[in-house]
Amino acid sequence: MTTPETLIASSDPASKVNLLGLSRAQMEGFFSQLGEKRFRAEQVMKWIHHHGVRDFEQMTNLGRSLRERLEQVATIAPPEIADQQDSADGTRKWAIRVAGGALVEAVLIPEGDRATLCVSSQVGCSLDCKFCSTGKQGFQRDLTSAEIIGQVWLAIDSYDGWQSGKGRVVTNVVMMGMGEPLLNFDNVVAAMDLMTDDLAYGLSKRKVTLSTSGVVPALDQLAEFSDVSLAVSLHAPNDAVRDQIVPINRRYPIADLLASARRYIDAQPDKKRVVTIEYTLLAGVNDQPEHARELCELLEDYPCKINLIPFNDFPNSGFKRPSGNAVSRFWQVLVDAGFIVTVRTTRGDDIDAACGQLVGDVVDRTRRAARYRERYAASGVSAANMEELHH
Ligand code: SAH
Ligand code: SF4
Repeated sequence: MTTPETLIASSDPASKVNLLGLSRAQMEGFFSQLGEKRFRAEQVMKWIHHHGVRDFEQMTNLGRSLRERLEQVATIAPPEIADQQDSADGTRKWAIRVAGGALVEAVLIPEGDRATLCVSSQVGCSLDCKFCSTGKQGFQRDLTSAEIIGQVWLAIDSYDGWQSGKGRVVTNVVMMGMGEPLLNFDNVVAAMDLMTDDLAYGLSKRKVTLSTSGVVPALDQLAEFSDVSLAVSLHAPNDAVRDQIVPINRRYPIADLLASARRYIDAQPDKKRVVTIEYTLLAGVNDQPEHARELCELLEDYPCKINLIPFNDFPNSGFKRPSGNAVSRFWQVLVDAGFIVTVRTTRGDDIDAACGQLVGDVVDRTRRAARYRERYAASGVSAANMEELHH
């Protein structure tokens, strides 16, 4: 991230610092560089994250000269909504256009009095998990912290939820959209800080979840910087199977990953915390009863709950979703062994609310690409950008 210092020194409007993405510490640093008192950081954060205000002129508790100074050196710039779709089941999905024109997705999934927002951390992903449509598109770039927290800001804004008294628009966040959050460490940590900061979104650390496919050195650092919930994308009961479908396993095998995840939760003061083990079921690859039994052995005495995700198919994926029977059989083996197991249900089917992978089906790329092409033909989104979203 460009530092506030360089931005304050700069007279180029294009390099104004985007205050949306600054954590509390960074915002305090910014105001101290301006020669302002610390409490200004608090005031401005509340305007941005509690009231959804983007215009310094509306920040009525700041003096005129400070407002003018801010106007010169800073901006509050969420990414743009390129498209929004609502499912009959209440799921809402956004295609979000980030600087440079690429598109990422965020999905809000309401469930009773909860509403979980699935947030992206990168455009594309370099880790190339074999069953993941984001992985197939390759890595393009990291999202900035403003682009990450901007997804939360936009979700609330789109429901006009700024202190509306209608209940909170977003009660939980999962970093399970596009990208590997631990490969965009600093920006993800800054954005998660804002998610849990009372001056911003004030979510409990248990309600913000980082999901990783196993970047062990980064996971080893995480406890020093964050205390959110942790999900690990395991997807296999042994290294032979995991090596084939999650290539990063060849560098950081299962034993190292599970040990690192355990150290992370052991470092938390709350001793009741567990790791969520994500297990995408791929027909014939990792969904057999013997895989389930091997998983029971692997996770015996491991502090975890298990989330089974029936594979969301997409064209040319090379994998199949297991039958309902195969899913139940797998689930039963784990339950009989005493594990807490959930099966992720499909939501937002009618709008292809994939968030890449979180919920519904990963979409029929061709069909959806065609739809986007139609929709954006008039709005100047290039075909290349559409491919970015759909590959
Ligand atoms: N990169 C992170 C977070 C994003 S993916 C990670 O891999 O953990 C969120 C979850 O969806 C991961 O567990 C991922 O492995 C899983 N997933 C990816 N593609 C999927 C698909 N087509 N069907 C089902 N789950 C998928
Ligand atoms: Fe990247 Fe996660 Fe997809 Fe693997 S599953 S390619 S880590 S987004």
